[in-house]
Amino acid sequence: MKDAANPTIYLKDYTPPSWLVEDVHLTFRLSPKATRVVSRVRFVPNAAVSDRSFFLEGEELSLIWARIDGQEVTPDITPQGLSCDVPEGPFTWEAEVEISPATNTALEGLYMSNGMYSTQCEAQGFRKITYYPDRPDVMAPFTVRIESDLPVLLSNGNKGDTGEGFAEWHDPWPKPAYLFALVAGELVNLPGDFTTRSGNKVELNIWVRPGDEDKCDFALEALKKSMVWDEEVYGREYDLDIFNIVAVDDFNMGAMENKGLNIFNSSAVLANARTATDANFERIEAIIAHEYFHNWTGNRITCRDWFQLCLKEGLTVFRDAQFTADMRSEPVKRISDVLDLRGRQFREDGGPLAHPVRPESFQEINNFYTATVYEKGAEVIGMLKRLVGDDAYARALDLYFDRHDGQACTIEDWLKVFQDATGRDLSQFKRWYSQAGTPKVVMSEAWQGDQFSVTLKQVLPATPGQSDKKPQVIPFAIGLLDRTGQEVVPTTLLELVEEEQTFTFNGLEARPVASPLRGFSAPVILERETSKADQVFLLAHDTDPFNRWEAGRQLAKSALMEMIGNGAPPDADYLDALRQLVTDDTLDPAFRALCMGLPSEDDLAQSFADMGRTPDPQAIWEGREVMRAAMAEVLSSDLMPLYDRHLVRAPYRPDAEQSGKRSLNNALLSLITRRDGGAVAQGQFADAGNMTQQMGALSALLANDLGSLELASFAEQWAHERLVMDKWFMIQVAHARPDLAAQVADALTQRPDFAMTNPNRFRAVFGALAMNQAGFHHDSGAGYRLMADWLIKLDPVNPQTTARMCSAFQTWRRYDADRQGMIRDELLRISALKGLSRDTGEMVGRILGD
Ligand SMILES: [Zn+2]
Repeated sequence: MKDAANPTIYLKDYTPPSWLVEDVHLTFRLSPKATRVVSRVRFVPNAAVSDRSFFLEGEELSLIWARIDGQEVTPDITPQGLSCDVPEGPFTWEAEVEISPATNTALEGLYMSNGMYSTQCEAQGFRKITYYPDRPDVMAPFTVRIESDLPVLLSNGNKGDTGEGFAEWHDPWPKPAYLFALVAGELVNLPGDFTTRSGNKVELNIWVRPGDEDKCDFALEALKKSMVWDEEVYGREYDLDIFNIVAVDDFNMGAMENKGLNIFNSSAVLANARTATDANFERIEAIIAHEYFHNWTGNRITCRDWFQLCLKEGLTVFRDAQFTADMRSEPVKRISDVLDLRGRQFREDGGPLAHPVRPESFQEINNFYTATVYEKGAEVIGMLKRLVGDDAYARALDLYFDRHDGQACTIEDWLKVFQDATGRDLSQFKRWYSQAGTPKVVMSEAWQGDQFSVTLKQVLPATPGQSDKKPQVIPFAIGLLDRTGQEVVPTTLLELVEEEQTFTFNGLEARPVASPLRGFSAPVILERETSKADQVFLLAHDTDPFNRWEAGRQLAKSALMEMIGNGAPPDADYLDALRQLVTDDTLDPAFRALCMGLPSEDDLAQSFADMGRTPDPQAIWEGREVMRAAMAEVLSSDLMPLYDRHLVRAPYRPDAEQSGKRSLNNALLSLITRRDGGAVAQGQFADAGNMTQQMGALSALLANDLGSLELASFAEQWAHERLVMDKWFMIQVAHARPDLAAQVADALTQRPDFAMTNPNRFRAVFGALAMNQAGFHHDSGAGYRLMADWLIKLDPVNPQTTARMCSAFQTWRRYDADRQGMIRDELLRISALKGLSRDTGEMVGRILGD
């Protein structure tokens, strides 16, 4: 899509800044519709650059005055910023602007949420606060003064002077503007402290609105665990006297790692047993860790430009996954991550929104906070670690922190560190950063004499703008088992670097059973001719827990495809193997619960599309229902004994052990409810002492067209807990029958407590509608129409959230001509909107393939 007002920006056009910043002083006089921001910025010429032109980014600002070295100046102002004649040497820039936080519904820059002031500056929100070189490669220490009558006034760094109606903050660590933060409001705190291993005492606070104090303990503990872990595993200590976390209700993302003042979507920080599920607790622990770990991977070492976003995000997601694996169960974490990767990233990689881990162009960087940059970016780090080994990885990271502390870096800097620490040439590996799409690895096996050989061939699919791709380095972990389930070759890492290679194992007594791509050692699609008998064998015996789960997954998928595509009955061998596994009390309940999950509707739709068949969303939905009924039948005599054995009677703890049992029991409950008319689920709902059991019961009931009384009593009980009500909105759409999903969602939007200005509430309804595949793709087109109607309403209010939600349509080319036509019409209706945002315009254009 060509658009003069929204130019495309290219990585290859990067130029260093003409001017650097020595220090920044900001004064905020807060007022809902007329906040004044006074800036004093010391600029020095960048000796590495000869161009001395001076441009400051600034959007939606009213300039009151500007001075250079004390002399009033009149800059040239455009909607994107200002330019001005400046001296040749260092000078001081001062300016005052006025902004209106109360009317800022886009939630970028300084905005108000429930009476409190908050900021979100990543990626380009600071330019909505004042005129500044708003680019990550300009780093400076900030001093901030906030003037307001509100009781709590926070910014980055350490505390400075404070008094009646003002507070000052000083952040000694040079940072880019995107890490700036300010919070002001009537807040209460849960205090804590932490002593770093070199003996520095750090004040910790979780700041929330009054009424939420009872939901902070878990976040505070998670923060302390993260601080210890980063010292022990990466040798990284915290570097300020204070660390503040603030919960905000209206927030576009999960959380933001602003230096010393992390700002969180309240859903990513507030939790207690009554209001949050086990999954919420685990997510909160991971996000607290993620944002904390950014202090070194993101803040102390930042990105040179936004194309390098994966430098901080891929590495930090990888680090938080290591943390969760250490705190909980490594196999369970790996399986969950792969489910998520396949569900979101493979889907992105396979459609019109595919882009490299390091994109090469964008119109709106907000559209690149994607599963590819984050989750595939983390997979790339995992592969690098697997290839060089744990010791070399640790050496390389030490070198990275030593060499680049205080700098704004690139992927080239990152890889150079590994080359220097290990002597390994990574030029071919680097293709993971530049080639989009999910590689396919086709595996074949041969057995001769005492020799077992494996041939691997990599196929790199064409993606938008990229067709001729070169072989990537694919670390392929494999183990070989004998017929009794003993390992005859333990996990071995093969390195696939050519288009096709054969690897041979000698001296084997009998033909082994291969367990390939162990631990999901590379983010690829494995294609292999294999017998059902071998998969049943691996499901029963594989010594690699990931692959044991994967064998069950593949069996379930083949069975479902046969049922949906060819009218076959549910596969008895699969059901039998599943029963063996689910009733095996030596296995972790969390693992068993994961094994009971079926491939998602979206996963099955993609598998049909990959075979060249048009997926039928209704048939897929029905197939999964039939399979679940068959599971309930096969397990019928086991369900209640298993459920009783795993009931947790001890006081609630959100740890791996208890939450594993609850997740198994909720999986069992959904099958029990198919057979007993809802009695057990109603009992669990009535007796539930925690949200995990309450939601599990409600979900089991709704999935079986029951639970209207429970739904009403839930709403009554939780009417004043907005995060719990988000669940209530979500669960109804998620479990709505396909022909009713759009109607249910539509009715929910008409409630007085539905507010599209709150991204959590909007996502609760429309995220769930997009996930309810058979409902969203219902052949009436009602799902498409409702989604488009609301995206059109939301775009002028909040472009960022609108643009992200457009991805509901990204798989449209998989479907039949009727559905494609209806989706195209809706996308065209959105793109024709007058004044459509840059965010949404770019997304719709890419999805349409313009
Ligand atoms: Zn992050």
